[in-house]
Amino acid sequence: MSDRLLESNAFQMAAWIGDNNSADREFVFLGTGTSVGVPAIGCKCRVCLSDDPKNKRTRSGAVIHSRAGTVLIDTPPDLRTQLLRERIDLVHAVLFTHQHADHVFGLDDLRIFGKYLEAEVPVFCDPHVEEFIRTTFRYAFDPIVLKYPAGGVPRLAFHRARRPSFQVLDHQVTPIPLRHGRFDVLGFRIDGLAYCTDVNLIPEESWKLLEDLDVLILDALRFEPHPTHFCFDEALAVIDRVRPRRAILTHLSCRLDPEVARTRLPDHVTLSHDGMRVRF
Ligand SMILES: [Zn+2]
Ligand SMILES: [Zn+2]
Ligand SMILES: [Zn+2]
Repeated sequence: MSDRLLESNAFQMAAWIGDNNSADREFVFLGTGTSVGVPAIGCKCRVCLSDDPKNKRTRSGAVIHSRAGTVLIDTPPDLRTQLLRERIDLVHAVLFTHQHADHVFGLDDLRIFGKYLEAEVPVFCDPHVEEFIRTTFRYAFDPIVLKYPAGGVPRLAFHRARRPSFQVLDHQVTPIPLRHGRFDVLGFRIDGLAYCTDVNLIPEESWKLLEDLDVLILDALRFEPHPTHFCFDEALAVIDRVRPRRAILTHLSCRLDPEVARTRLPDHVTLSHDGMRVRF
């Protein structure tokens, strides 16, 4: 790792520890939008034309900071600008929820972290997601390219998102099997926080993994029902059953007008926005 980067990370870590009396970890929303983002190209709706910075939603992803480093959840197409915006210099590991384009196509931006870490970037996912990544990013796994240290490709070390839980840095991560249309996807729980983006059905065996949460972050695409995402009312029904102390809705499209949504939200439920931070 370069001296400059070591210094900058030591500085960040010192600032983090010094400023961290209330909780050990911080969850940062990198992006909170649906697959086309908000505003959507060509859309002239009230939300897309709004000047409110909270109505600018990049594709969904997140990081979790802790004393041991930074874990990234998904690599959305906007990853580079999201990490620059949040002044995140280094990612130590990556979790993947699923293989949709809006969650993986920023993967090439992991190249720089392999270089800084001088090691393969650890990636945790299910086998079908690994297979999708190996096929879609075939250039990164070409044995000829991998022979050269400066091959200009992301260097990844795949690990299973093991059940019932697996260790990443200083986190014990519990994968939460979810359904997203015809796809099997994962939510992730770390301590009292669960992140469940891209879901329209919670399998029976997964409800117990959502018990006693402080924070539930949940997909709520829009007001009207959708075949692969929870809509607003469905998300509120899940929150009613899970009873987290606090819930935050994410993966929002422009068809969920925040001004309308806020009039219908219970006190302990809020909408996410890009750059929102949650200590836990
Ligand atoms: Zn998505
Ligand atoms: Zn719109
Ligand atoms: Zn998806």
